[in-house]
Amino acid sequence: MKACNRYELDGEILEIPLRWDQRTQAYVEDYGDYIDQPAYTPAGRPILLTIEDACPHADMGDSPGGIDCGACRHYHQFPGSQLGVCSNEKRRRPGKQRGAAGTRKEEPI
Ligand code: SF4
Repeated sequence: MKACNRYELDGEILEIPLRWDQRTQAYVEDYGDYIDQPAYTPAGRPILLTIEDACPHADMGDSPGGIDCGACRHYHQFPGSQLGVCSNEKRRRPGKQRGAAGTRKEEPI
């Protein structure tokens, strides 16, 4: 079985592969597939890395100089991951229903 972290987002299971990082001497998530091919929850919400460039619909609130999704009020990052979901209705893919937040489940390495 390939090592991965498993997240449940709005009813969709996402499996993020893990790779060994020599510098930190720990397993880290490999986001390659999510950078090349962004995913959406079944509710149509984009699943993004915290370091994605902020879009024109960002709400930086108390961090007006924020430049990435991680600083936006619409972004909900999952503990222990650099992934999160954007809850901004303007970024939701049309034709989908509203959904709930996600949870994380770890697979044994
Ligand atoms: S979290 Fe959503 S609204 Fe905020 S900058 Fe990222 S894509 Fe835009």
